[in-house]
Amino acid sequence: MGKKKTIIFTDSGDTIIDESTQLYNNKGIVLKADFIPGADRVLKTLYDEGYRIALVADGEWDSFQNVYRENGLGHCFEEWIVSEVVGVQKPERLMFETALEKMGLKEDDKANIVMIGNNLKKDIVGANRFGIKSVWLSWSPRYFHKIENDEQRPDHIAETPEDILEIIHKIEENR
Ligand SMILES: [Mg+2]
Repeated sequence: MGKKKTIIFTDSGDTIIDESTQLYNNKGIVLKADFIPGADRVLKTLYDEGYRIALVADGEWDSFQNVYRENGLGHCFEEWIVSEVVGVQKPERLMFETALEKMGLKEDDKANIVMIGNNLKKDIVGANRFGIKSVWLSWSPRYFHKIENDEQRPDHIAETPEDILEIIHKIEENR
């Protein structure tokens, strides 16, 4: 399938993998983790359909490398923007600026970018401030579930990974 116009930035923990299943080594690096049910199929489907996908995640470089090497879906990410490397965490603008730059995108491309994440105060606030679309995955019971202000208000809400697929397809069709 041909390239899609929509570009995906996605978080990892509790967006693709289930944080409650993370296994750590004695240095606090994640060694492996299970997918949120259905998230592996959704990630692989979006990749196979031709969407460009960047990982935009807070944590250690080695943790993400370990998890996605072990689960076999690391190839779905064109770029890995990891807070340990960037030096700041979401919602800091630099995380999103770095993703834009590493993906070879410009200010004008922002209208086509969608950030997917589970954390209202990191993923959604970061995306909204940066001026890209935001999709909140509410699947995880962890972190905050109360939208306290406009900056935390996602453009779309997904309850399951399958909902994300549907939302991305609608965004792509409606442009
Ligand atoms: Mg997360």
